[in-house]
Amino acid sequence: MKNVLMDTYKRLPVTFTKGEGVYLYDDQGNTYLDAISGIAVCGLGHAHPGVTRAICEQAGTLVHTSNLYGVHNQQLLGERLTDLSGMERVFFANSGAEANEAAIKLARLHGHKQGIDAPVIIVMENSFHGRTMATLSATGNRKVQAGFEPLVQGFARVPYGDLEALETAASNLKNIVAVLVEPVQGEGGVNIPPADYLPGIHKLCDQYNWLMMLDEIQTGMGRTGKPFAFQHHELLPDVMTLAKALGNGMPIGACLASGKATNLFSPGNHGSTFGGNPLACAAGLAVIEEITRNKLWEQAACAAEALSRGLAQKLGGVEGVREIRALGLMLGIQLDRPCADLVGMALDKGLLINVTADSVVRLLPPLIISSEQIQQLVEDLSMLIIAFLESAS
Ligand SMILES: *Cc1c(COP(=O)(O)O)cnc(C)c1O
Repeated sequence: MKNVLMDTYKRLPVTFTKGEGVYLYDDQGNTYLDAISGIAVCGLGHAHPGVTRAICEQAGTLVHTSNLYGVHNQQLLGERLTDLSGMERVFFANSGAEANEAAIKLARLHGHKQGIDAPVIIVMENSFHGRTMATLSATGNRKVQAGFEPLVQGFARVPYGDLEALETAASNLKNIVAVLVEPVQGEGGVNIPPADYLPGIHKLCDQYNWLMMLDEIQTGMGRTGKPFAFQHHELLPDVMTLAKALGNGMPIGACLASGKATNLFSPGNHGSTFGGNPLACAAGLAVIEEITRNKLWEQAACAAEALSRGLAQKLGGVEGVREIRALGLMLGIQLDRPCADLVGMALDKGLLINVTADSVVRLLPPLIISSEQIQQLVEDLSMLIIAFLESAS
C-alpha cells in the first residue's frame, strides 16, 4: 500500500467493512464483538436503523447551508439537549476538542468581563481534553504535549479527585476563572473520583464565581447510567461539553451553558462553518430520540451491573488483577503490569477492547448490548486476561 496517510495512528491489522449492533465484520469475513464502540461513539451500536434513516432522509433533503441562516435541526437538537440536561443554551461544533475550545473561550470571556486580563483555568492530572493547541495544553499527559511547545498559557494543574488540592489552589493562585474536569477520566485510565468530588467542585465554583466546566465528551449520552454523568449528583454545571456518542458516528460536538455562562458569547465571538449543520443535527436528534424513548441509560445501568458482577466473579482474586473500576458502561480493569498486548490477543479471538494508561483494560460497549452478549464478553475477556497474566509471569 502507498504510504499516503500521515503517521498519526498506530493501527491494528484489521479493516472493517460492515457493522450491525454490537458486531463488526472485517474484509476477511471475520466477526468481532465490539466492546469499545469506536471509543464511546457508537452507543446505539453500528448501523442503527433509526439513525441511518434520519441521516439518509436528511442527506436527500438538505445537508448544509451555513450559520448565516436559521438551521431548523440545530434549534430542535438544542431544545432536546437542554430539556434532557437542564442546561440553557448550546453551541454546536464538530468534535470534542472543538466543544472544549468553546468552553475554554467561555471561561476566558467570563474572566475578561470581570477585568481579569490573564484568566487561569484549573485542569487535572491525567486528564484528556483533545488535540488542538488549547485542548492539548489543558490535557494532563506529557505525551500529548511533547513537541508542540510553546503550550497555550492559562492552565493550572492539580491532582484529580482531590478537593483539598483545589482549595489550596484557590488560596494560592490569583485569576482563577473556571475548573475543567471529566466526571470520570476516560483516557486517563477510567478513574472514578470520590462521591463528594463533583459536589465539592460545584460548591467551590459557586463560592469563588468560577465556571464549573464538565467535559462529558466520553461520559455523556447515557454511558454512565444517567443521560449525563453529573446527574448522579444534585447539581448543574455552568458548562458541559459533549461529542462522541452525540451523533453515533456522525461528527458533532456541543458546548452547553447554564447560569453565569449562559449569555457570555455574542455575535462575532465564536463560530464554525460546519458546526450544527442539518445533517449532523439530524443524527443527533435520532440519537436523543432513541435514548430517551425507553430511557436507554437505565438499560445501560442494568447491563453495567451484569458486566461488573460477571467480571468480578471471574477475575476477583486473580493474581495480577488489581482493581475493577466502573461507572455504568465505562469500565476499567487495572492490572499490575503493562498490558497493551492484550488488545491484539483479543482481536485474534474476535473481541475489540482497548488498553489505556498502560495497564488498564478499558471497555466501552454499546449501550444496547444484550445479556447474552455481556456473558460472551465476560467469558472471552476473563479467559484472555487470565491467559495473558499466566504467560507473562
Ligand atoms: C475523546 C475525548 C475528547 C476529544 O474529542 P475529539 O472528538 O477527539 O476531539 C475530549 N475529551 C474527552 C473526555 C474525550 O474522551
